[in-house]
Amino acid sequence: MIEIKSAIENAKNVVITTHKSPDGDAIGSSLALYHYLKNKGIKSSVIVPDAFPSFLNWMEGVNDIFYYDSQKNEVEELMTKADLIFCLDYNALNRIGPLGDFIKILDVTKVVIDHHQDPHNFADHYFVDTDCCSTAQLVYELIEQFGELNQLSKIIGECIYCGIMTDTGSFRYPSTTSKTHNIIAELLELGVNGSSVHQKVYDTFTENRLRLLGYALTEKLKVFNDEKAAYISLSAEELKRFNFKKGDTEGLVNYCLSITGIKMAILMTEKEEGVNFSFRSKDDFYVNKIANKYFNGGGHVYAAGGRLEISLKDAENKVEEVISLHKNELNV
Ligand code: 5GP
Ligand code: MN
Repeated sequence: MIEIKSAIENAKNVVITTHKSPDGDAIGSSLALYHYLKNKGIKSSVIVPDAFPSFLNWMEGVNDIFYYDSQKNEVEELMTKADLIFCLDYNALNRIGPLGDFIKILDVTKVVIDHHQDPHNFADHYFVDTDCCSTAQLVYELIEQFGELNQLSKIIGECIYCGIMTDTGSFRYPSTTSKTHNIIAELLELGVNGSSVHQKVYDTFTENRLRLLGYALTEKLKVFNDEKAAYISLSAEELKRFNFKKGDTEGLVNYCLSITGIKMAILMTEKEEGVNFSFRSKDDFYVNKIANKYFNGGGHVYAAGGRLEISLKDAENKVEEVISLHKNELNV
């Protein structure tokens, strides 16, 4: 922690990076750190590998974000000039796509702030707590440990609130602790309007997104009651039919898990490069192991992801095979 503090104090050009397909925690924690550094007079740039959902566009600072997929040269110039790089909300360089290959070769101080299991050894300093609900909470805790909570602003608070809210499923996952609620109370004291953040993130569906949800639940949900598992798979054609935009399937997998007795839920979406998998679980069944063992991924014990370069049909077969292989554990 002392090393991170002095790295910040000695830095002139900071770069903040986060994972591919950034979510509310990735963007929230990155922008919170960005605003904190800005208030201290330290120049920083937030770099994302690719686009994030439009329901995060309200956050202060989003227009200052750089995208590696569409601004490669600018990003590489920023990274080359950087004297400190933050790696937020990811535990391994392969989580940031081609940007990881570029960061790997840079001889610059790297600091990881993250809450995923098994962080890889690619940075100089780590502020990691795998029990913590979100990276946004860790950014708060870092500022707290610096003794600088008085430097929090309403803008920083909104970003942290958004990160905690999205990664805890609105304060309901088991990772939500009294500490989380205390932090949220502090953020409300700062003037953050929690209800407004909630509305901006969750009550901004397009009609297409809501109809895709309805279609997926009515037509595409497959339930394996004996195995206590359920999945939804969506083809590229189906996504196109509902004019799919990034973030439109967010939360869909959780509906599968809301069925009584279901312990593992999977969402498969067909992409150009193959199939993306989203896993959720409950009751001591750990999906990060499943994601890692069979689906080239990983994540948290109850929420994980993966990807394979196979057809959607093969993906469904593989998922059904895995469900049947783990039937006994699912039935504990
Ligand atoms: P989602 O289903 O929301 O895309 O991902 C669930 C969680 O798993 C997120 O916290 C995400 O960061 C994490 N995750 C997704 N894919 C991977 C992966 O390949 N490796 C690791 N370590 N975490 C992943
Ligand atoms: Mn996170």
